[in-house]
Amino acid sequence: MAVLDRVLKLRRPGSYFSLRSFRFSPFLNSESDIKASASVIPKPLPLHRDVEGRNVQWVFLGCPGVGKGTYASRLCHLLGVPHIATGDLVRDELSSSGPFALQLAEVVNQGKLVSDEIIINLLSKRLEASAAKGETGFILDGFPRTIRQAEILEGVTDIDLVINLKLREEALLAKCLGRRICSECGGNYNVASVDIKAEDGNPGMYMAPLLPPPNCASKLITRSDDTEEVVKERLRIYNDMSQPVEEFYRSRGKLLEFDLPGGIPESWPKLLQALKLEDHEDKWSAAV
Ligand code: ADP
Repeated sequence: MAVLDRVLKLRRPGSYFSLRSFRFSPFLNSESDIKASASVIPKPLPLHRDVEGRNVQWVFLGCPGVGKGTYASRLCHLLGVPHIATGDLVRDELSSSGPFALQLAEVVNQGKLVSDEIIINLLSKRLEASAAKGETGFILDGFPRTIRQAEILEGVTDIDLVINLKLREEALLAKCLGRRICSECGGNYNVASVDIKAEDGNPGMYMAPLLPPPNCASKLITRSDDTEEVVKERLRIYNDMSQPVEEFYRSRGKLLEFDLPGGIPESWPKLLQALKLEDHEDKWSAAV
C-alpha cells in the first residue's frame, strides 16, 4: 500500500493550517462506501457566500467535453479565485522534464486515469504555489475523479459546492473532437458546430462553434488525447470511475446539477442564475 506522507497546506485568512496527511487505501470505489454515504441527510447548498471568512471552494464535475474548463474559468474570473484544472497540471507535467512525464504520456494518450498518488502530488504542489501567492479559495476542475480522490479531498478541506455539468451525450464527442488550443497564447476554442434536430419528443439543441480570432487561427493545435478512440475510452472511464463521485456529493447535499441548455450565450446566464450570481461586467466574447 502506497503511503503519501505529504501534509497539504492551504491558506485561510491570517494563518496557514496544516491539513492532515492521508493514506492511500486499496479499497477504491467500493459500492458499500457509496451506499453508506447515501443515508446522510442533505443540507441546504451553501452557494457563493463566504464560508468562515474565506473564498469559495468549489468543484466542477462532468464528462469530457462538457465544458468544465470554460465555465470554471469564467466563474474563477468573476469570483477572484484560482482555477485549478488537474488536466492542465497533467499536461504541464507532460511537457516538462518533471519526474512523472514519461509515465503520464502513456496513460493520458490511452484515455486512462493517472494514479491517485501522482494526481495528489501535482495538486499539492499547485495548492502550495497558490498559498505562497496569497490566493484563497479555488474552483477545482477535473478533481476529484474517483471516490478515493473525493475521500482524500474531504479529509483535507471543506468543499462548499459541487457543480455537475451535464450535456446531451450526442454533443460530447463532437465537442471533444472540435477542441482547439492556440499554441501561442493558450486560448481555447472549439470548431464544432453542434446541431441536434428535435426528434421523438426530444428538443433540438444548437451549439455554435467558438472560433479563434484571426491571429490564433493559424496556430491551432489539438490535444493528443482528443481522438475519437481515446475520447470514447475517456467517456467510458468517466461513467465507471467518476460518475460515482456525483453520488458521493449528492448524498452529502453538496451537488448542484446543471443541464447545459446549449452554447455559452444560453448557458452562462442560466448558470449564474442557478448560482445566484451576477456578472456586472459581462463583457465576454464568444472566445473562452
Ligand atoms: P477531460 O475532462 O476532457 O477528459 P482533462 O483535461 O480534465 O480532460 O484531463 C486529461 C487527462 O488527465 C485525463 O484523461 C486523465 O488521464 C488525466 N487526469 C486529469 N485529472 C485527473 C484526475 N483527477 N485523476 C486521474 N487522472 C486525471
